[in-house]
Amino acid sequence: MELDSLYQEVILDHYRTPLNKGLSSEKDIQVHHNNPSCGDEVTLNLTMKDGFVKQITWDGVGCSISMASTSVMSDLLSGKEYQQAMKVLEAFVELMQSKGQSKGDEELLEDGVAFAGVSKFPARIKCALLGWMAFKDASTQVMA
Ligand code: ZN
Repeated sequence: MELDSLYQEVILDHYRTPLNKGLSSEKDIQVHHNNPSCGDEVTLNLTMKDGFVKQITWDGVGCSISMASTSVMSDLLSGKEYQQAMKVLEAFVELMQSKGQSKGDEELLEDGVAFAGVSKFPARIKCALLGWMAFKDASTQVMA
């Protein structure tokens, strides 16, 4: 992969030391998502409180991109107001659909911009989106 070396480092850091990994005992909902084309699997526990994302914990197996992206997502969206979390999520999805043309909004996405290069590799986009789609699924169900 032709990812910028700095960005690779961010991805590898999250892969080696994932944040919020290990499922919490308390949760409002648990979802399980997988990406059969790569073999990635993520289980996500979500707790919402007063319209805020109170806690995201997860467990999973898969490639470095899927695991690192789930780690970044869990860190980035925890503590955010629901609508703001969805705004960040939409920005990440847009970045993944940019075919390498976007660098991403660093203010919104923080470490998430490290995945900009992934958008050039259609086969890997689902890896990067796996944890984010799990969050979207879980939060939409809780807020419904
Ligand atoms: Zn993968």
